[in-house]
Amino acid sequence: MRIPKNQIDFEKMFTTEEQCIEYLKELRFPAGFSCRKCIHDEYWLNKRGIMVCKYCRDELSITAGTIFHRSKLPLVVIFRALWWMVAQKNGVSAIGLQRVLGIGSYRTAWTWLHKFRRLMVFPGRDRLIGTVEVDETLVGGKASGKRGRGAEGKSMVIIAIEKTEKGTGRVRMSLIPDGSKKSIGKFITDNIELGSTLITDGWKGYTGISKKGYTHTIDKKTKILDGEEILPNVHRIASLLKRWLLGTHQNYIGEQYLWYYLDEYTFRYNRRKSKSRGLLFQRLIEQGVMHVPVEYKSIKCM
Ligand SMILES: [Zn+2]
Repeated sequence: MRIPKNQIDFEKMFTTEEQCIEYLKELRFPAGFSCRKCIHDEYWLNKRGIMVCKYCRDELSITAGTIFHRSKLPLVVIFRALWWMVAQKNGVSAIGLQRVLGIGSYRTAWTWLHKFRRLMVFPGRDRLIGTVEVDETLVGGKASGKRGRGAEGKSMVIIAIEKTEKGTGRVRMSLIPDGSKKSIGKFITDNIELGSTLITDGWKGYTGISKKGYTHTIDKKTKILDGEEILPNVHRIASLLKRWLLGTHQNYIGEQYLWYYLDEYTFRYNRRKSKSRGLLFQRLIEQGVMHVPVEYKSIKCM
């Protein structure tokens, strides 16, 4: 399949609604179309993206069961929105997107960005492995407030990052309700392969983690960020994350939406060395066609 190489290429590939429909069709039926009723493979495709089986006349909408179904926005606008989000180094805010694409409603722009964020978690992705640094930090809320684990008005985010010979590898992060053994343990087993070596600070939430099948090393070389002591590699990610939330998204995002932003940040960080924006674009469109995340249905606008 052709992948957009740059902005000009993108514009050429997706000038019309028909081109977008054709692209979705190719992603949806990579091995070619076959009718779900009679298995014949010949069809007509109309301008509204309906495939009609030439044999039994069964109709199938290309977008049915995908995130693109029954959208108020034309596909050319949705494709541009995703391209813009992927092509910009730091992503884009809903207001920014609204302006660039002339989308009439802020809510629509906001909702689409959230739909895209849900696509950024690929099903069955590999867990982190090797030596992994894990620590928590507080995000959002008022600048002044109680410090330490569990301050009010702030959300606790746990971050895990692979330590490699050359520096750091992939990252995972998640919102957790508290710094308890239970919350921390669940994040670790969900996101880190058994047998890995965990580097943490001396917090009691990490005690006993070696019983779950990890090698546990306690490191006391923490750095200070917003009054918190954080391990050095997590410190770097946490400060980049906070700067990104403040810069691109002007802070403050309610806690109920924060995890979408964590997904986007994780996606960006883990693909920071990827040269092809076009490939990322295609992977995300493909996600939207083939694996609609269940949660997307529950995205409600602020
Ligand atoms: Zn048929």
